[in-house]
Amino acid sequence: MKKSSIFLIIVAIVVLIGAAAAGVVLSKNNGDNNDRETVTVTMGWEAEIIEDIAGDDFNVEVMLPAGTSPHVVYSTPSNVANLYNSAVYFEVGTDVEWEVAFLEDVKEDIPDSVEIVNLSESIAYVGMMSEEYGEGDEYDAHIWTSPEYLTEMAKVIEEKLTALNPDHAGEYAAGLEGYTAAAEKVGDAMQALADRYTTSTAESPYVVMVWHPAWVYFLQQYAADYGIYFDMVSVESNGDVTADKAIEIIENNNGSAIFVSGFDEGSTDAVKEVMEKNGITVYTIDPTSENMLAALTEFIGDLDGYLGDLTATSSE
Ligand SMILES: [Zn+2]
Repeated sequence: MKKSSIFLIIVAIVVLIGAAAAGVVLSKNNGDNNDRETVTVTMGWEAEIIEDIAGDDFNVEVMLPAGTSPHVVYSTPSNVANLYNSAVYFEVGTDVEWEVAFLEDVKEDIPDSVEIVNLSESIAYVGMMSEEYGEGDEYDAHIWTSPEYLTEMAKVIEEKLTALNPDHAGEYAAGLEGYTAAAEKVGDAMQALADRYTTSTAESPYVVMVWHPAWVYFLQQYAADYGIYFDMVSVESNGDVTADKAIEIIENNNGSAIFVSGFDEGSTDAVKEVMEKNGITVYTIDPTSENMLAALTEFIGDLDGYLGDLTATSSE
């Protein structure tokens, strides 16, 4: 064999090995151009926690876009292929309908290489009873409305990301500290609210009317730790309601305001208009926010306005 032939064969082998190696990297990262691992989550606030902890070290795939109710009629997300290339899928795990249907649908197709971490099973949380659609003996799914539980879930996420990328343990610990400090600021805001409005007790709480009952952990559990007591009353807890029916429920509870979520009936222009015409103040809040801590801080600001009106009225 001539020297030039041997050289060509070597070149061919090197090219083949290179292509195979590139192929592995490409398929592992699903076209992502660097060597970041993919991590999949259900909701946007989980992605925000990962980014706060690990910056852009991971390619984060969110299955359920913000502004979508996790109780929505289920459909397979278009980016589901990314799950199969993921190192970890962080499920919320509180039996929220979309996630249950999703895992039921894809379970058989998920390779063993994808580790599924159940965030709610990994933390100690006190379940509140569900007010949703009369499912009275079930636990409420929305544990992410509590900054305390967000912090606990962030710890689980930080441990797992550190296991995936131990060289960055120090950065991730610092990231977790940053997230925890931000969550504590929400607590400071809640404390300030509790210091301003001092007339509620566990027996005689401030009534907060909501459309969708997503806030029980925040309003009835977290707030109580700061000495301010709310009773969350949902107009749709027994199923869909019309604007007129909602107004009737609000008035029966001596309410003059309601907190609606961006995706529920109460936030549509038509329904909002009818309620406002009847003298009801409509506040919009977002239980699917990508930045839950910011959404909760905003909620506290709205509660301040609401309680200001409420206590002014009651002392007239
Ligand atoms: Zn919900």
